[in-house]
Amino acid sequence: MKILNCLLLCMAVFFSACAQKKENNLPPTATTKKNAMEWNKLTPEEERVIVNKGTEYPGTGTLLNNKESGTYICKRCNTPLYKSDSKFDSHCGWPSFDDEIKGAVKRIPDPDGSRTEIVCANCDAHLGHVFLGEEFTRKNTRHCVNSISMLFVPDKKP
Ligand SMILES: [Zn+2]
Repeated sequence: MKILNCLLLCMAVFFSACAQKKENNLPPTATTKKNAMEWNKLTPEEERVIVNKGTEYPGTGTLLNNKESGTYICKRCNTPLYKSDSKFDSHCGWPSFDDEIKGAVKRIPDPDGSRTEIVCANCDAHLGHVFLGEEFTRKNTRHCVNSISMLFVPDKKP
């Protein structure tokens, strides 16, 4: 019986090691979507933007000029939102993307119809607004996103 227990334990360790190895590209905190009980704790400034739908001051975001390749994930629930290859320079003062990771971003038209808000599809964190028809890129779409609403996870260097 003892041997069997030991064997089971060894197998469990082995399999969890495998699972970890597979997702090594991202830090452990960034691998899974988090449910409401596990959301990341926000600073008051993060809360102002993410919860109360505020806007960070243009040109000040830490991810504005980030050109590294990687994934932009939700600051609150770690859901991957944007890939770096959809990021472009719009000179609007906020990080801009012309496409989201499929299904990761929800669009909510403002009540007065003037703009369309974008939120994390998993936790409803406020990200920014989406604008169409500006012809910045071939996709003709600009997700104007607050840096503070996201975390950047660089791709693993080969
Ligand atoms: Zn989220």
